[in-house]
Amino acid sequence: MPQKRLIVKGIVQGVGFRPFIYRIAVQNGLNGWVKNLGDAGVEVIVAGEGAGIERFLRDLVERRPPLAEIDGVEVEEFTPDSVPRGFEIRGSSSEGRGSGTIPPDVAICDECLNDVRGETRYRRYWATSCVNCGPRFTVIERLPYDRPRTSMDEFPMCDDCRYEYTDPLDRRYHAQTIACPRCGPKLSFSGCSAGDPIKEAAAALRGGAIVAIKGIGGIHLACDATREEVVLRLRRRLARPMQPFALMATGELLPKIAVVSAKELELMRGLRRPIVVLDKQEGSPLAPSVAPGLHNVAVMLPYTGIHYLLFDELGFPLVMTSANLPGEPMMIDNREAEERLKGIADDLLLHDRRIVSRCDDSVVRRSGGGWRFLRRSRGWAPTPLEVGLDCEPLLALGPELDATIALYDDGKCYISQYIGDIDDVASFEYLRASIDHLLRITGRDLPQHLACDLHPRFLTTGLAEELGRRVTRVQHHHAHLASVMGEYGLEETVGIAVDGIGYGSDGAIWGGEILLATRADFERVGGLSTVPMPGGDLATRFPGRMVAGILHEGGMRGGELRDRLKFRDLRELEAVIWQLESGTNVHKTSSAGRFLDAVSAWLGICPERTYEGEPAMKLEAAAESGRPIEIPLQFKQEEGRTVLDIPALFRELVELEGGHPAADVAATAQWALARGLAELAIEATRAHGTRAVSLSGGVAYNDFIARMIAEAVAEAGLGLFVNERVPCGDGGISFGQVIVAGSRN
Ligand code: ZN
Ligand code: ZN
Ligand code: FE
Repeated sequence: MPQKRLIVKGIVQGVGFRPFIYRIAVQNGLNGWVKNLGDAGVEVIVAGEGAGIERFLRDLVERRPPLAEIDGVEVEEFTPDSVPRGFEIRGSSSEGRGSGTIPPDVAICDECLNDVRGETRYRRYWATSCVNCGPRFTVIERLPYDRPRTSMDEFPMCDDCRYEYTDPLDRRYHAQTIACPRCGPKLSFSGCSAGDPIKEAAAALRGGAIVAIKGIGGIHLACDATREEVVLRLRRRLARPMQPFALMATGELLPKIAVVSAKELELMRGLRRPIVVLDKQEGSPLAPSVAPGLHNVAVMLPYTGIHYLLFDELGFPLVMTSANLPGEPMMIDNREAEERLKGIADDLLLHDRRIVSRCDDSVVRRSGGGWRFLRRSRGWAPTPLEVGLDCEPLLALGPELDATIALYDDGKCYISQYIGDIDDVASFEYLRASIDHLLRITGRDLPQHLACDLHPRFLTTGLAEELGRRVTRVQHHHAHLASVMGEYGLEETVGIAVDGIGYGSDGAIWGGEILLATRADFERVGGLSTVPMPGGDLATRFPGRMVAGILHEGGMRGGELRDRLKFRDLRELEAVIWQLESGTNVHKTSSAGRFLDAVSAWLGICPERTYEGEPAMKLEAAAESGRPIEIPLQFKQEEGRTVLDIPALFRELVELEGGHPAADVAATAQWALARGLAELAIEATRAHGTRAVSLSGGVAYNDFIARMIAEAVAEAGLGLFVNERVPCGDGGISFGQVIVAGSRN
């Protein structure tokens, strides 16, 4: 009788893979066993009819559990001493470290949802999960993934749960998060677990209350998204005047508030269930303050039992924003929420399962014809990316804003959940905790090689130096482009790196760069011309200062500058002019983001930035209804590079403004930026004999700009590579740092 030995690699542990193998082996009449091999994957021995083995191999791939990812199956003939009668699930081997096996947190599956809604012992139990669904990443303390090493350890299983847990034919066989109303974690509403906390929370929400809701990876603040006075109250309490709020809606409510394509819906309904940025629906019932001044809105579908049970009681979409205080990460702790959300949340819907590591919602949008991660977190972290590097293990500490960290070992790069802005004690502590958690759940020690940013004053740069390891410092925009090279396996590229700001190799503020890059190194060959940023950071907050800087750089002086700017609501105009004229506290920048900000301020769309990206996002929204005018583009030489002349471009826009609607001017500014950068990149491919053009950086989220660049590059017969698997914003920097540091040996 034929016998085969299979080694299956990929995400095949902690996802119900062994019971799945058991089931398909039994169904196909095979004897043998299945065993975890730690790092090396899963070993399967099958013996039986040839046709049965054929069917088994097909089932293995086609019917695999939803969370499993099979990277490869090695099959060889096997001649053992004896194969058991029947099929066995054998204990885990202690070889290897069992890495790459921790799946992400995913949404409740349909079968569990049916259990919650049906007449089962899980009826109305909010934490119902099985081997195919629920939390993983946020409950595990360390490897191997077993109940005692998770936050479920505090909830001993009842007999019914124990029975399902030990039955190989049950969907909850070895489901480490198995729990039921008798033995599992409990919900409470504002401190009281009697009654039905979900119904009480729903009643509060209907009454216009702001309710803190603890989910899988953290605590959200929720309120009725259709009532303006309620949304405004939340804005006041959070001191967040403009930043768009994410929403949660059911599949039924969704088309009323947003325009959603079949592809977007498929992603939204999938197991990973991210927030997706969608165009607003006309005549939507949403309160105007949900996403003021923007043409789109960020929505997710329910993903836990709590959300589903809540929406069963509600007929309106909810604002669902992370509960955090300024500069701090999302709250995860009940006591902290009770104390620190006083005055913000009217009520709290909390459960008593500890969140070991927080995990914010992922955010995705379509841009330039592809999917872009704004945030790669819940549903993805810590799933590794395969990368072609040949180096020792390495840890990259990321950038300062929108940070993630990344760990490389043995062909795989594990990117952490979203950590946020590392400019505060609390967020820095979170970064350090995330490093520990990532090392624990991958079974690694702190590597001997660290990567960090070039900026001398970043907290992460200081940390890298402190840890006493070899440190490679990576330029921000090189890291952006290396992240594209890492995703697509490129060795060399002409890259367009467009974003807010990053520390340049010359100490200046970069952000609109054409780099000729290899993985290990780069040369700055073009980009945007540098312009003054009067007042440094103040020019970021008040983009009218950038307008003054650009006009001044273009030769406009005293009286004319005053005349041009006096209608533009620019605070401290005289001080700004004095700064420019005396060169006091004036930095120089080539940032694409600051240019877009300046246009936004000039057109009166956004004179003050209250959240990151606001002026440029509102400019994109304003340009939606506009048509670009093909103005002539001017280039000049700067320190041996050809650059797009920003003051000349701005002058063209100023000329247009009299005779054209603001929407057209906004569209023209975006068009000119995209076209100018694309032309410079195409020219660089010719000069240097490179065929690949890459695009990365936060400005690549702008759909119009990304499309214009893609069109121009395609017209030139070249391929354009843009991030799809890591964020093109700063969430992808840690991955890029891994690629650079790992290539620079
Ligand atoms: Zn399930
Ligand atoms: Zn139970
Ligand atoms: Fe950046």
